[in-house]
Amino acid sequence: PATAALVADMVVDVADFPKTGVLFKDLTPLFADGKAFRGVIDAIVAQYAGEFDVVVGVEARGFVLAAAVAYAAGTGVVAVRKAGKLPRVAHSATYSLEYGTATLEISEAAFTPGQRVLVVDDVLATGGTADATLDLVQRAGGILAGFVVLIELGFLGGRERLGDRPVHALLRI
Ligand code: IMP
Repeated sequence: PATAALVADMVVDVADFPKTGVLFKDLTPLFADGKAFRGVIDAIVAQYAGEFDVVVGVEARGFVLAAAVAYAAGTGVVAVRKAGKLPRVAHSATYSLEYGTATLEISEAAFTPGQRVLVVDDVLATGGTADATLDLVQRAGGILAGFVVLIELGFLGGRERLGDRPVHALLRI
């Protein structure tokens, strides 16, 4: 609850980004505020304490969160990247967007066997990104410990798209 209020206070709504009709939730002000950033990172670490061995971040804002969570918890961090960025791709997942498709990739060296993986991103919207990312984690041999976002846009149905997989949002809108 305290963390939900923190996120709600720091998020800025940007109309018509990235295109007309979309109300974009901009979390960069929260990232830029030392107290707020530490507050959300500490809340995530506390929520999943002892339950994960490595943190996955989704390009690009997820990297910021994942690195901080990993550092605070003393774990490593793994990047799920957009197509064409990784030197040793093991798995790729393509998902549909409103117009066209997007592809995410994970390295063949991402996990050691049995590693429990916490996945972090800033916003859960339609769930396409998360669905592809959690699929990559599983195919790379990771055991999903949880998927956490700062904001879930509940009306877009992302949680339903993820089925049984464990989702936690600091703030649900
Ligand atoms: P989805 O695939 O539709 O769930 O969109 C989630 C992905 O797009 C995440 O990686 C987010 O970073 C990004 N995203 C979608 N909507 C927003 C938003 O309103 N604010 C910030 N990021 C967003």
